[in-house]
Amino acid sequence: MNLSSTDSSNNPENPINYASPCEKKKSDCLKVIQTILDGEASEEQQKHFEAHIVECLSCCEQFKLDQTIKVALQTKICKREVPEDLVHVIKLKIDQLW
Ligand SMILES: [Zn+2]
Repeated sequence: MNLSSTDSSNNPENPINYASPCEKKKSDCLKVIQTILDGEASEEQQKHFEAHIVECLSCCEQFKLDQTIKVALQTKICKREVPEDLVHVIKLKIDQLW
């Protein structure tokens, strides 16, 4: 017998690994995060990623972190400098959203 794609009951690679589903493809996830934050992701990409971060804590954390940095940078461009406090407040607000 060879490897069968129809038999999923004995699949050694469980597609759902709650610890970190994207461990092997983390760099791909990072690219998607950047694309989304740049506002260049397609609706499909966004939906797929939103579904992914529900299960992938590492991507969820990464997304929040990158989003915080992006917001902080934008604020820094528009206004002058971002106090440490503001970054902290933004992080808390993002945490509340999730
Ligand atoms: Zn992930």
